[in-house]
Amino acid sequence: MKIICIGRNYLAHINELHNKVPQNPVIFLKPDTAIPQKKMPFFIPKFTDDIHFEAELVIRINKNGKNISERFARKYFEEITIGIDFTARSLQNQLKQKGLPWELAKSFDGSAPIGEFIPVSELASLTEIDFRLEVNGTTRQTGNSRNMIYPIEKIISFVSGYFTLKKGDMIFTGTPEGVGAVHKGDKLEGYIGDKKLLMVHVR
Ligand code: ZN
Repeated sequence: MKIICIGRNYLAHINELHNKVPQNPVIFLKPDTAIPQKKMPFFIPKFTDDIHFEAELVIRINKNGKNISERFARKYFEEITIGIDFTARSLQNQLKQKGLPWELAKSFDGSAPIGEFIPVSELASLTEIDFRLEVNGTTRQTGNSRNMIYPIEKIISFVSGYFTLKKGDMIFTGTPEGVGAVHKGDKLEGYIGDKKLLMVHVR
């Protein structure tokens, strides 16, 4: 199983990090060890204490596919949830400055907690999915899929031109604005609409 992540998919987040709007989706991968064991807290890693949360809609691929066209992409996922793309921000900035890959800052153990999946069929529309992240009971990020630069179907089509998608793979679809640092003791709760699907304790 692989985890495919999209960077820079919401304009307001691109602006808050002073990045440029990409010509193509920005893609990186996380290994399966990025998904924490069930109910485990998120442990701040030993190599840094500068970790940011990025709340993102996450889809799970339901069948294998390669070179999937946008118009058939909807057939390749049935479930969606909210997840956190934990990012070692200062390390990522160092890597970016040197033109190096981001994996050390993005793909470490436990860096991809995911919530409980719900059927996509429960949602009124794929292009109007409201989601939000609360930290210690305060809303810190709100997003709506209508603001994605690359919608889900486009991401599936683009990515499957490079990597065969396999059943069980997950795609993190990018974070809206409002990213910020986490601290020991924080409680993160992720919602799609009014449904709480994700809870992560930071240790
Ligand atoms: Zn992200």
